Amino acid sequence: AKEQGRGVYRFFSPDLDDRVHARLQLENDLRSAMDNNQLYLHYQPLMDLASGECIGTEALLRWSHPELGIISPVDFIPVAEETGLILPIGNWVLRTACTQAKKWFDAGKSNFRMAVNLSRRQLDYDGLAIDVKRILEETQCPANLLELEVTESSAMQNPEQAIVILNSLHEMGICLALDDYGTGYSSLAYLKRFPFDRLKIDRSFIDGIPTDADDMSIVQTTIILARQLRLNVLAEGVETQAQCDFLKLHGCDEIQGYLYAKPMSSEDVEKRFDYKNYS
Ligand code: C2E
Ligand code: CA
Ligand code: CA
Ligand code: CA
Repeated sequence: AKEQGRGVYRFFSPDLDDRVHARLQLENDLRSAMDNNQLYLHYQPLMDLASGECIGTEALLRWSHPELGIISPVDFIPVAEETGLILPIGNWVLRTACTQAKKWFDAGKSNFRMAVNLSRRQLDYDGLAIDVKRILEETQCPANLLELEVTESSAMQNPEQAIVILNSLHEMGICLALDDYGTGYSSLAYLKRFPFDRLKIDRSFIDGIPTDADDMSIVQTTIILARQLRLNVLAEGVETQAQCDFLKLHGCDEIQGYLYAKPMSSEDVEKRFDYKNYS
């Protein structure tokens, strides 16, 4: 195992036995993580390019492991998916994020959206819409504050079923975003059959601005097509002013990335954006 930047722990071992062992250990630990309050959320601010304002956050799951430190969701979400633990964990994420969204709503941020990631397995689960509805009721969070993010590959796993589930969520007033756009193989024309409100252009294309001509064309074309399909467009992983300028010039609606803000605690979001005193 190896420590990787900013104290985030990633598994790194060429030895298969070690990896299998680490994996089993991780699975066991994950089972108790929720009960032991080791999971928490960070919130990454989303910025509207026209106004320069923070218009919401994306909730990102973190695991503070007693021995290993902070484990990246990239490492434990797949384990949670395979074991089915993603269902209770996913509900915990939804409940926590909706509770936070309601708090900010009550503090005066009435249009402030809370984006939550849905895993492939959650999208496959028949009870998803019922669970989401119950969580919205329990937390008193207005449905239109919640946005659910679904990756292109999850949506395309079983597209007909995904369309049905997403339609029922959309009818409840929840917003839907297509996450990591461009990393799968589906066309936007096909994806338009899904009730998405927003498209999030994957970070890998934003990385290429302003040096990679292909990436720039892809981003530019995606923005044009998305707008024609009446989808709002957000660019992920914006790290430089040059990328921000390019996206603004080409009509992108929103950005998310280290340039504007990294994922942070709810307290830090409040400090930075002065929510407590918002009127
Ligand atoms: P994602 O949904 O694409 O989330 C965006 C990821 O990009 C986050 O990584 C965020 O910290 C990172 N990021 C944001 N801005 C920048 C930037 O400017 N540069 C770079 N290099 N990275 C940036 P994170 O938090 O490690 O999450 C990784 C993935 O784990 C997420 O990718 C998502 O697929 C998954 N994930 C996180 N939380 C949850 C959750 O609650 N449920 C589910 N199902 N998946 C989650
Ligand atoms: Ca996401
Ligand atoms: Ca993404
Ligand atoms: Ca991504």
